[in-house]
Amino acid sequence: MLAIIIYGWTTKEKTLESTEFFCPNCREHRDCEHRAVKRYFTLYFIPLIPLGTVGEFIHCDTCEGQFDTAVLDLTDADVERLTRPWRCDECGNTNPSDQERCLKCRCFREDEPAAELEFDDD
Ligand SMILES: [Zn+2]
Ligand SMILES: [Zn+2]
Repeated sequence: MLAIIIYGWTTKEKTLESTEFFCPNCREHRDCEHRAVKRYFTLYFIPLIPLGTVGEFIHCDTCEGQFDTAVLDLTDADVERLTRPWRCDECGNTNPSDQERCLKCRCFREDEPAAELEFDDD
C-alpha cells in the first residue's frame, strides 16, 4: 500500500497577552495585543509540533499597526520625542520627524531617534 505523507511548515500568530501602550501611530493610549509568530511542523496541513518563536510584535487594536515590542517600554514623552517635528540648530527650520537631514540646509539632525518603531513585516 502506498501512502503519500504530506508535511511542511507553517507559521501561526498567537496572542501572548492583551495590554495597553502608547501607540506611535494613533498618538493615544490604546489597547493592544502582544503577539508571537510561531513556526509549526504540519502533517497533512495540520499544525502539530511547535518549532519555536519566529518573532514577536505589538498589534494596535485601533489602527491595526504593528510595532516592535520595544514600543512597550516607551513613554508618551519618548513617543512624542521620536515622532514630533524637529528644529534645525543651524538654520532654525522645522523638519518632519522622518527626515534625518534638514530640508533647508541639509545638515544632519542632532538627536537621532533611539529605535526603529515600525515592525518590518514582509
Ligand atoms: Zn494605533
Ligand atoms: Zn537647517
